[in-house]
Amino acid sequence: MTSSALQAELRATIRTIPDYPKPGILFRDITTLLGNAQAFRRAVDALVSPCASEKIDKVAGIEARGFILGGAVAHQLSCGFVPIRKKGKLPFKRVTIGYSLEYGIDEMEMHEDAVARGERVILVDDLIATGGTAEGAVKLLRQLGAEVVAACFVVDLPELGGAAKLRAMNVPVRTLVSFEGH
Ligand code: AMP
Repeated sequence: MTSSALQAELRATIRTIPDYPKPGILFRDITTLLGNAQAFRRAVDALVSPCASEKIDKVAGIEARGFILGGAVAHQLSCGFVPIRKKGKLPFKRVTIGYSLEYGIDEMEMHEDAVARGERVILVDDLIATGGTAEGAVKLLRQLGAEVVAACFVVDLPELGGAAKLRAMNVPVRTLVSFEGH
């Protein structure tokens, strides 16, 4: 399947909801992609394929849609999965970072023993917009000594500059579908 055919197929399964959660935001809802067996499988395969021959120790998924995709990616790569969660959700000793997102500010956390120093980690989320969330996640992983091998997203909103921001941090970025605007 060509990448433009894959783009078209995935794009058709993503639902757009205007003015959610705030006026002016076009919310790209991937629950419709996840609910489509063929699209879900193809999206996960496409995220995994560039890393298939590399040694990967862990996949780190960003709450919450990054858990669904990241879990599937980790299973396919036969590596561990670690969650990056919103503040206050993880029970053990944590590292915390503040970050800005397209519609607000927040804090996220990881367990301090979730990754070991030198482990090779792939970061996964559903969508990259301004890149604030993913930037925070990369900083958390690096704080723990992980090597962030790649960051993978189903959807890119390139006008918001997030993918470029991550590349400027020396993180290779893989995205499957781009949408114009916010
Ligand atoms: P950002 O930090 O600006 O890159 O925002 C990325 C995070 O916010 C991801 O976890 C997305 O799930 C969510 N997000 C931001 N903008 C949108 C959007 N337009 N549609 C759906 N999710 C979004």
